[in-house]
Amino acid sequence: MKFISTRGEKTVTFDQALIRGIAEDGGLYLPDALPAFNVDDFSSAQSIAEVAKILLQPFFESSTLLPELDEIIAETFSFPLPVTPLPTQAGSAGLLELYHGPTAAFKDVGAGFLAACISRLEADQDNPLTILVATSGDTGGAVAAAFNERPGVRVVVLYPQGRVSDRQAHQLTCWGDNVLSLAVRGSFDDCQAMVKAAMADAAFTRYRFGSANSINIGRLLPQSIYYADASLRHFGDSGRKPSFVIPTGNLGNALACCLARQFGLPIGEIVLATNANRLISDFLAGEEWLPRASIQTHASAMDVGNPSNMERLRYLFGEADQLKSVVTALSVSDREIEDEIRRNFTEFGIATCPHTATATFTWRALTNEQRTANDWILVATAHPAKFEQIVEPIIGQTLSLPDGMASMLSRERHYVEIEPDLRSMAAALDHRFSA
Ligand SMILES: *Cc1c(COP(=O)(O)O)cnc(C)c1O
Repeated sequence: MKFISTRGEKTVTFDQALIRGIAEDGGLYLPDALPAFNVDDFSSAQSIAEVAKILLQPFFESSTLLPELDEIIAETFSFPLPVTPLPTQAGSAGLLELYHGPTAAFKDVGAGFLAACISRLEADQDNPLTILVATSGDTGGAVAAAFNERPGVRVVVLYPQGRVSDRQAHQLTCWGDNVLSLAVRGSFDDCQAMVKAAMADAAFTRYRFGSANSINIGRLLPQSIYYADASLRHFGDSGRKPSFVIPTGNLGNALACCLARQFGLPIGEIVLATNANRLISDFLAGEEWLPRASIQTHASAMDVGNPSNMERLRYLFGEADQLKSVVTALSVSDREIEDEIRRNFTEFGIATCPHTATATFTWRALTNEQRTANDWILVATAHPAKFEQIVEPIIGQTLSLPDGMASMLSRERHYVEIEPDLRSMAAALDHRFSA
């Protein structure tokens, strides 16, 4: 299998797509043909690692990493990804808990896989690959944790100063010498624009840049595996295809679910839950796709004004009229998120992070008919303790920290504050990496 750009560049191998991150023509990589599976292809799979091996095989055909696929999978899926049933009154619903990894958010899966692949591809380079990552909060921590102290690769994290939770800020800044954390005096959109601009700017020609944002195909593919695994288990137990509600920002996680369904996995409807950044739902309702400034919300990891993976979604499935039959979307306000966190706690006895609350809210907002005709899996994208400043006052309880987070919070922080411009960014990189 080869990989193509959404804007039409000639094909590249999987290894090239992983290293480049974004295509030379500015487009995003996708496989040149989607593999077709059916449920029986997975009948021998007893674990998520075995599901991953079957699903990933075709993508690795053209990769020098094929002999190491088992180890890459073992490194990526080193923590549980369970579905916990919810005690609902009518219909069936469960929470897909994607937050048991090192930084307690689903991004640990994609970041872990990408780091496992790239560190192997880059083992013998003179000029180390410098991974640039703009983050609205969770990506940066996951990528830094995944690449921390891996030889031959550096990471530069750009995050919006003051717009991430304290614990997220800690996770973005407590790493070793190969990680440079930049606290940008601006928004996530500024950070994302700086990453794009730096890749093409003369001030940075001595760096070999790579990307680890959700635009990297190496982030996207492994995310389709937990949808494959959860849907196969549900289908195996009940004979019914589960439908998913997915908290959505840059559209990476949701696109991974669309891909899994496209590959032939037993997935029903896919519903996107967004916060007050409602470009996606407005687009599906017929408005033009015009990137907006992002709005700050409680679900800060979803504060995205220009979701980059829409380019892939439109390439694969077409414009709003066609897309409406692929996904639906609901925008959830901060007030609704607060009420929903409270309601999940009183009704189900569970604490949910603000992002996860957009999914449970969206599920509740379905019609009775929709809720009972389908079985629903609601995606829990982060551990509530990561957003304790929002969640604890609402539920009136202190949340205990997962083990990994506790040890991370005891590490010292290092970061450099910069203005949202390329000059400040170049100075910070040159200062750190000039030896
Ligand atoms: C990144 C993130 C999201 C949004 O995921 P996308 O793939 O960008 O759509 C949702 N919830 C949490 C907790 C996140 O970290």
